[in-house]
Amino acid sequence: MKIPRLNNIFRLAFILYLTTRLGWRKAWEQAAYRLCSRCFSNEGLRLSAEEIGLIDSSVCPSCRMSDGRKLTKDLINLLAHRFFVWGTLRRTLYGVSPLVKFNDRHTTDLAVTSPWPSEDMRLIEKTVGIGFFHYGPRFWMIGVNIEPLDALKNPTERRKITQHICNEYPIYLLSRGQKFYRLRKNPKHPEDTHQYDSPPAEMTCEGRLDSEEFPVMYASQDLQICIHECRVSAEDDIFVATLMTTEDMKLLNLTELLLEPDKSEFESLDMAVHMLFLAGEHSYEICRAIALAAAESGYDGLVYPSYFSLLQTGKIPLETSFGLSHRRFPQLADQEKSKIIPNLGLFGCPIKQGKVDVLAINRLMLRKVQYDFHFGPVGL
Ligand SMILES: [Zn+2]
Repeated sequence: MKIPRLNNIFRLAFILYLTTRLGWRKAWEQAAYRLCSRCFSNEGLRLSAEEIGLIDSSVCPSCRMSDGRKLTKDLINLLAHRFFVWGTLRRTLYGVSPLVKFNDRHTTDLAVTSPWPSEDMRLIEKTVGIGFFHYGPRFWMIGVNIEPLDALKNPTERRKITQHICNEYPIYLLSRGQKFYRLRKNPKHPEDTHQYDSPPAEMTCEGRLDSEEFPVMYASQDLQICIHECRVSAEDDIFVATLMTTEDMKLLNLTELLLEPDKSEFESLDMAVHMLFLAGEHSYEICRAIALAAAESGYDGLVYPSYFSLLQTGKIPLETSFGLSHRRFPQLADQEKSKIIPNLGLFGCPIKQGKVDVLAINRLMLRKVQYDFHFGPVGL
C-alpha cells in the first residue's frame, strides 16, 4: 500500500505544478487518467500499457477496474506511437519507414483484417481524439532516389563518390595508447596473440569492409557491440583481446553527421552513408569500395556506424518532422549522433605490423542475455 500512497503524493504535486504552468483546466486534461492497461484486449498492447502506465489503485474511468496501470492523454499518445507507428516499421533495402501514423487532424482510414486490434484502436481514437492512417513515406526514407546512394550502387559511378566521401568526412585520430577490444569465437589457439589480428587472406571477403588481398581488423571500444557483431551464441567459446595502439592511426570517421544545409535528403551524402551502414549484407560491396578508397587516400582504417547501433541504443531510425530528416537540423545533431555506436575497421594486419599491441586475452563468459522489446499490430 505504500507505493500507491507515495505515488498519489507525487501525482498531486505534479498536478499542482501543471496548474501553475497551464491553468487548472489544461492541467486537469493532461493529468487525468483516461484509460488503463486493463482496457485493452490485445495482449501486446496491454503489456505495453503495463510497461508505461502509472501505478495507481483508483478506478479506471473507462473499464471501471482498479488494478490496471493508468494512462494519461500523453501516455496514450506514447503507447499509440510505440505500438502502431514504431510497431509497423518496415525495412527496405536501404531505408525504413512505418506503415501507419496518426494525428489529431485525420480520421482513421485503414483497411485492416483480423487480428488487427480494431476495437482497441477505436478506443484510443475516441479517448484522445486522433485518427490513424496509411503512411506514404517520402521516397528518401525507403532509400529511393537518393542521388549519392544511386551513384554508389552504380559500379561505373562508384569511384567518384567514394573519393568524395574520403574528402568530405573528418579524420578521427586513434591516438597512441588507446584501448579497444576484439572478440573471437572458437579460435583454434586462444592464447596466440596473432589469432586476434585480421583474418588471414583466405578468409577475406566475409565482412563489411575486407576484400581480396585487403584484410581488415574489426574491433570496437564497446564490448557489447563486439558481442553483437560476432553473432555469438550460447555454445560458442568466446575470447576477447584487449588491444592498444602503439602509434597514432588516422581513421576516416563515417560516424559523423555531415550537415549539408543547402541539400535535400535526395541530394544528401550524409543520408546515403547513414543508410549504407545500417543496411545488411547487400551493402557490403559498396562499403568495401569505400574502405579501399580510404586506404588509397592514406587512411589506416575507418570508424563506421555499427549495424547494431539501433539495437544497442534502443532508438528509432530515420526520425522526421514534417517529412524532414532530423539529421538535417543542427540542434538535433547530438540526439542523432547518440543513435550511432562506432566500430573500428583497421586496414592490414595491425598486430603483425606492430601498430597494435595485445595487452590481455580473456575468456568471455555470457552470464545473461536480456532483450528489450515492444509490440506492434498484425493485419495491415
Ligand atoms: Zn481501464
